[in-house]
Amino acid sequence: MKSICFHCQFVGVGLADTRCPRCSYPLITNLAAAALGTQDLEVLFASTAKHTPPPLPGLSAEPRQAQLLMQRRREKALARLEARRAIAEAEKKRTRQLAVASWCAASAAVALGLLLTLNVMGAL
Ligand SMILES: [Zn+2]
Repeated sequence: MKSICFHCQFVGVGLADTRCPRCSYPLITNLAAAALGTQDLEVLFASTAKHTPPPLPGLSAEPRQAQLLMQRRREKALARLEARRAIAEAEKKRTRQLAVASWCAASAAVALGLLLTLNVMGAL
């Protein structure tokens, strides 16, 4: 049996008194079996850090149903967005080609008109 004074750090072994003989502060009596040294604590912490605890009942590492559904929904939305973007890109390209073609046609019509006019007026 060990008695410790937390006021003046007095340590006595086998004391019958409940008060510290130095400062009369109440002594904390400790049984030797209950005393844990720092070495014991280190061993305990090292042994618990080594192995991972078993999973809690009802829990598994596999993704939950809601998580799977959310991932599927996100993938579908991304695919839809990508398809929409590709369609918009193709449409933009086609309108550009149409604009170039109409500009070429207009230029050709103007050149033809000019040639016809010059031909009619007898310049050529
Ligand atoms: Zn004391």
